[in-house]
Amino acid sequence: MKELVVISGKGGTGKTSIVASLASLARRVVLADCDVDAADLHLVLQPEIGHREDFIGGSKAQIDPARCRACGQCAKWCRFDAVSADGPENGSHLTTCRIDPLACEGCGVCVDYCPWRAIELQPVVCGQWFVSRTRFGPLVHAQLAIASENSGKLVTHLRRTARRLAEERHLEIILCDGPPGIGCPVIASLTGADLALFVAEPTISGLHDLRRLAELAKRLQVPGMLAVNKADVNPDLTVELEQWARQQGLLIAGRVPYDAAVTRAQVAGQPVVEVSDGPAASAIRALWTEVATRLPTVTPAAMRGLIHLAG
Ligand code: SF4
Ligand code: SF4
Repeated sequence: MKELVVISGKGGTGKTSIVASLASLARRVVLADCDVDAADLHLVLQPEIGHREDFIGGSKAQIDPARCRACGQCAKWCRFDAVSADGPENGSHLTTCRIDPLACEGCGVCVDYCPWRAIELQPVVCGQWFVSRTRFGPLVHAQLAIASENSGKLVTHLRRTARRLAEERHLEIILCDGPPGIGCPVIASLTGADLALFVAEPTISGLHDLRRLAELAKRLQVPGMLAVNKADVNPDLTVELEQWARQQGLLIAGRVPYDAAVTRAQVAGQPVVEVSDGPAASAIRALWTEVATRLPTVTPAAMRGLIHLAG
């Protein structure tokens, strides 16, 4: 089993369109939409939700006003200034203490220091995660609740679930649509993956983003390949991106030209390789051939399928 993470420095680089097409070309895959802050793979793959579950992403402290003696110990020990003395009256005290859930980090220190055992940590539901059916295999995806954090933890959970499904169903490839940037969710997406496919556009910021991402992947010891999307929009910068990538030991997966068929396919909710034989679709087929050679579990039958599709 091999895990490929498709990743870019920012949103809107065409990453998800490429992932959807790769899913169509690879066929028997487990898909994971790890871009949990802006999940959109489901818009192209039109999944049917099979399993839905709350995601518990941590805990917050809560005071039981009936037990609170307003001693102020919790406020004294909280390093996050989450405790205030404006809780409700409880019969023996005019005000009790109250914890601001937005400021509370769930560290539990106040629970240990409360002499009256008035504080408990309560689990927090940060969103929902799903296992859905698609034409290409199961899709593991999620919806983070508004203003929720812990997206790194959620990404780790999605990847673990995808791995379990791949083992249970004897599927050889896990294909992850990674989040943009270089923050915690990206680290959670890349750590332990077999291959990262960087999708970059030929712009100055695209080069800057690629540098940061490639550096991160190197530190995490994940080998990388580069795909330049809309490569023909700025051929000079495309060459610069590829040169820089080669110097860093990255392999070149291919160039995808600008093609209005990609937008039309998105609007139709279809992978572009299924509705077009135009330049972008052809380039993505060639790109998958390159990537597949770096994922040795791709079977000869799947490769024959690729050659057939490309022909
Ligand atoms: S759990 Fe930690 S952060 Fe939250 S109120 Fe208690 S001490 Fe403060
Ligand atoms: S430490 Fe416990 S009893 Fe004291 S103010 Fe905080 S919650 Fe109330």
